[in-house]
Amino acid sequence: MTTPAETTPAKKVLLAAPRGYCAGVDRAVVTVEKALELYGAPVYVRKQIVHNKHVVQTLERRGAIFVDETDEVPEGATVIFSAHGVAPVVHEEAAARSLKTIDATCPLVTKVHREAVRFADEDYDILLIGHEGHEEVVGTAGEAPDHVTLVDGPDDVDNVTVRDPEKVVWLSQTTLSVDETMETVDRLKQRFPALQSPPSDDICYATQNRQLAVKKMAKDTDLMIVVGSRNSSNSVRLVEVALEHGARAGHLVDYADELDEAWLEGVSTVGVTSGASVPEVLVRDVLTWLAERGYADVEAVVAAEETLLFSLPTELRRDLKARKGEDAGQVRHDAAFEDAGSLH
Ligand code: SF4
Repeated sequence: MTTPAETTPAKKVLLAAPRGYCAGVDRAVVTVEKALELYGAPVYVRKQIVHNKHVVQTLERRGAIFVDETDEVPEGATVIFSAHGVAPVVHEEAAARSLKTIDATCPLVTKVHREAVRFADEDYDILLIGHEGHEEVVGTAGEAPDHVTLVDGPDDVDNVTVRDPEKVVWLSQTTLSVDETMETVDRLKQRFPALQSPPSDDICYATQNRQLAVKKMAKDTDLMIVVGSRNSSNSVRLVEVALEHGARAGHLVDYADELDEAWLEGVSTVGVTSGASVPEVLVRDVLTWLAERGYADVEAVVAAEETLLFSLPTELRRDLKARKGEDAGQVRHDAAFEDAGSLH
């Protein structure tokens, strides 16, 4: 005979690892924090330093002013370029306005910029796989505007034209779905068999690892909760990857207070992860919310170990050393972003 207890599946949480901050986001956020300490408020930041509402609002409260373009920054002031990178024309505009610039572009985005410059110098047509209008894509395309054609997913392949099908290379945005990008590449290769690949992966290690963890847990997950902002490409991709790999439902939330009790209807296993621009404090809020509703059993699903750290931007390290004599060589997580109570 079956008892009611036996028919009710246990409630549990699968928690993805890795999740949250990547090395490029950590570096960019610490760059703004250190610049505020060193130069004093306000410090201007072109675009959102990283695509996360909570991070941006927290830095605003500390004195950062986010602008869309450099012409909104007063002449001679300090401006930080975001982790997503900028086109060379933006550096030129900043120089023309005598702005002091600190470039927090992620080194892995800079790598793609360099590839674009090199292939353009060799007169290749560059097919840049990415999302139209995304800041990173605008910055990379701006390195070689006469050579770059944007390919926005597999369905865009038929629209592509090139000058010489024998001299074509594909590059990509760093935060795409690995599977969808390979589908786009396969379709491009059908049209252009001589298509060359980038010298190394353009989709960055952090994007790949977070997707890997989600793939590993998706089939055992009734509901996947991804913590991240709607303009965060890698966060949006995590929801898509979860659904493609077996999760029954998936939602993207900035904060725990956006969670809906109705999503838990009939749910036994909840998957939780976060995008590369998300501080861990926001994940902890989600776990607390779930625990209060019976999902207190948390099991880690580990897909990779990450140890990468990037040095702060050269211009900031130089000023830190000159003015404070402190060791500015390594990026550290800022304890303030771990302090749930003060930030939300
Ligand atoms: S997601 Fe990847 S490319 Fe973007 S900032 Fe992080 S490490 Fe750099």
